[in-house]
Amino acid sequence: MQIEKVKKGWQELDSEIIKTGKCVYCGACAAFCANIKFDPEKEIPIEDGSCKDINTCRDGFGLCYNICPKTGTDQIPLNVLDRWVFGKEHDKILGHYIKIVSVKLTDEAAAKIPIQAGPLTALLNIAMEAGLIDASIITDKDENFRPFPIIAENQNDLFNGIGYKPSQSPSLSLVGDAINKEFTDIAIVGTPCQIQALRKLQNHPGFDFEAYDLISLAIGTFCFGTFYNQQLAKCFNEYDINSREIKSINSIKNDFKMKIKTESGEKKIPLNYLYDNSVRHACFSCSDYTASFADISVGNVGSEEGWRTLIIRTPRGQEIFDLAVNQGIFEVKNLDKDN
Ligand code: SF4
Ligand code: SF4
Repeated sequence: MQIEKVKKGWQELDSEIIKTGKCVYCGACAAFCANIKFDPEKEIPIEDGSCKDINTCRDGFGLCYNICPKTGTDQIPLNVLDRWVFGKEHDKILGHYIKIVSVKLTDEAAAKIPIQAGPLTALLNIAMEAGLIDASIITDKDENFRPFPIIAENQNDLFNGIGYKPSQSPSLSLVGDAINKEFTDIAIVGTPCQIQALRKLQNHPGFDFEAYDLISLAIGTFCFGTFYNQQLAKCFNEYDINSREIKSINSIKNDFKMKIKTESGEKKIPLNYLYDNSVRHACFSCSDYTASFADISVGNVGSEEGWRTLIIRTPRGQEIFDLAVNQGIFEVKNLDKDN
């Protein structure tokens, strides 16, 4: 199946996707457009006025509209992404994969990366050390634990991205910047919808994006919903948690709680309460929990406490995983689909 360019731009993106609550705040619409910025309070893209009256770019075939993962979902169903990424029909359960493992960082890993780091940072670090990637688009956080995207150009930058953040950051907006900085082997870490956006952006047959060659690694994080920052802060207030004092956040699936460590102790908030009060609207219609189109997917579902699940999906993912294993970074247990 081919998908065609659509003669629509910012106005239609705004009316069909953003104003209707379908936007997942992935950032793709701003990847190659300087007119699009982001409103960190409402967590939506905004534009600077250049595109309001006329869709200016590409003879009206606006990049923002055409690469948004939420546009044309009838023309670009997931099985098209499957054919682009894996050359196969769609696998509805976990997506295509080479193997599924449970991993834990070893003492050798602790000598190389901070103790708080997990397998995701370890994989990026190893890939960077080996020269397989030269930059990573990851997520840092501000003093209120709100995420924002950065281009990690070295190991220290990478370590700024350590730790789970419950909200979305528009990471794909930095793809163009990373290319302009002349990085040629870029890694991207994102939620499943962001990896879908990345694959659309890389493979859209109607556009000739350099992103296809210059993005060398996509790591997806398992996701069961991201939370609006403002509403999440209100939920934290209800539980007497000051966002400025948060040290780390973890989502514990086996007792359906979010665990928040602060300077004064630890609190748990039921996920049901958080979903009712602060989950992003677009997440209710999402069905890709494991980042089916990533090179490697990472999450804690399916593994014991202290371990993480890795789904190795592509030869590139396998190459970087093997590197980590050969360097003694991971203790590994095989898992199968039924786990
Ligand atoms: S590309 Fe992403 S951030 Fe932009 S409108 Fe679409 S979903 Fe929202
Ligand atoms: S639940 Fe789906 S739509 Fe929501 S952030 Fe996660 S991957 Fe994106």
